[in-house]
Amino acid sequence: MAPEEGATHAVRRRVVLFPLPFQGHISPMLQLAELLRARGLAVTVLHTDFNALDPASHPELAFVSIHETLPDEAASPDADIVAQLLALNSACEAPFRDALEALLRGPDDVACAVVDGQWYAALGAASGLGVPVLALRTDSAATFRTVLAFPRLRASGYIPIKEEQLDELVPELEPLRVRDLIRVDGSDTDALCGFIARVADAMRGSACGVVLNTFDAIEAPELAKIQSKLSCPAFAVGPLHKLRPARPAAEHGSLHAPDRGCLPWLDAHPRRSVLYVSLGSVACVDRAAFEEMAWGLASSGVPFLWVVRPGSVRGTDEALSPPPLPDGLDEEAGWRRGKVVAWAPQREVLAHEAIGAFWTHCGWNSTLESICEGVPMLAQPCFADQTVNARYVTHQWGVGLEVGEEIERARVAEAVRTMMAGEEGDRVSQRARELKSPTDRCVATSLAIDNLVQYMMSL
Ligand code: UDP
Repeated sequence: MAPEEGATHAVRRRVVLFPLPFQGHISPMLQLAELLRARGLAVTVLHTDFNALDPASHPELAFVSIHETLPDEAASPDADIVAQLLALNSACEAPFRDALEALLRGPDDVACAVVDGQWYAALGAASGLGVPVLALRTDSAATFRTVLAFPRLRASGYIPIKEEQLDELVPELEPLRVRDLIRVDGSDTDALCGFIARVADAMRGSACGVVLNTFDAIEAPELAKIQSKLSCPAFAVGPLHKLRPARPAAEHGSLHAPDRGCLPWLDAHPRRSVLYVSLGSVACVDRAAFEEMAWGLASSGVPFLWVVRPGSVRGTDEALSPPPLPDGLDEEAGWRRGKVVAWAPQREVLAHEAIGAFWTHCGWNSTLESICEGVPMLAQPCFADQTVNARYVTHQWGVGLEVGEEIERARVAEAVRTMMAGEEGDRVSQRARELKSPTDRCVATSLAIDNLVQYMMSL
């Protein structure tokens, strides 16, 4: 369908979407766009110049670029993440409002806007224009609960996190321990708390609905608790990547071109024999940790497919991909059992029968993608909500093991072997396969998108 053909009515109902410009936020928003479009709504996606989207990847959607002026330090790949989010919010507020106003003057009836839950400024701007606005949370219900609880956690002394409390369970957020709470190393606690407070306030003050990329089979209790804390409805519409209409290539909306050469490489491997390793689109490691990961993987004896994004090893030239190997590693037989790519077609990789486990940073999309394919995880959370997800992966759902805080070659090799060939690995692999059934059932029977569309039409 062409961008403007969406609905049959003379005046179309249009929904305006505004993703946060990071891979883990863009993908679910575009998946939601496809689902809304498939139900007859016209969809316009507003997007920033920063990490700009390629409209050609979604010819069926209308894209409008807003032109923000972001300070250089906030646009840099080394930017402090919290400072970057604050800067994006302030730089995009006015251009977002202008673009939305222009759409309101257009021929279509704008039913509502859906903006990323971290766009607190856009939530306020849309509601200020009288446009009903919903917030899309691209993280888990457990993380969203933690966000809503942040002021209480700060007031009761759990934040800033204290070394001596790390292993205490957090009241009302069990199974989370203090060490699992959202944190961003290197960012100032006040800045993080200030950002989260703005997000929570905008949600409560401006949003007429919350959309979550999660589902009952994994987070029913968390969803019930969230609903009791909100005065607007929450719609659990996940897992979006499974519910969206089928497309010929599975990775549309990707900011990087995937190296599809890894798929025939996987074809040559036995069932469940390969470890897939990726720390997502943002997390970086320092050179020492990279070397320990490399030596650990090589000496584990396990075949591996490793995504090493350009720029993901601190102190390495962004243009070098992959970064230079540790001396002597390419001579190692173990290294030759592996394959390194700059970006993988991850959803296809995880669905490949050769994959036995996923060493992941536990970004929410990666976690959902792994659960949906019944692939167990080796959890190495780095920052933000990843610690929350890792705790659920290892302790709530029992579908993963921890790599451990210290990334050291012998421990890495041991953790990889335990996952791929040990008793504990067997146990979590079995559990991951078991969790796939209720997940498949949720996907097959989900009416959540229809309920969401009905609500949007009632606004
Ligand atoms: N991804 C991918 N290829 C890669 C690495 C990641 O397609 O080589 C995708 C992955 O499938 C997921 C997203 O990038 O949908 C990463 O999102 P996630 O929430 O897991 O982590 P983030 O990048 O936000 O930290």
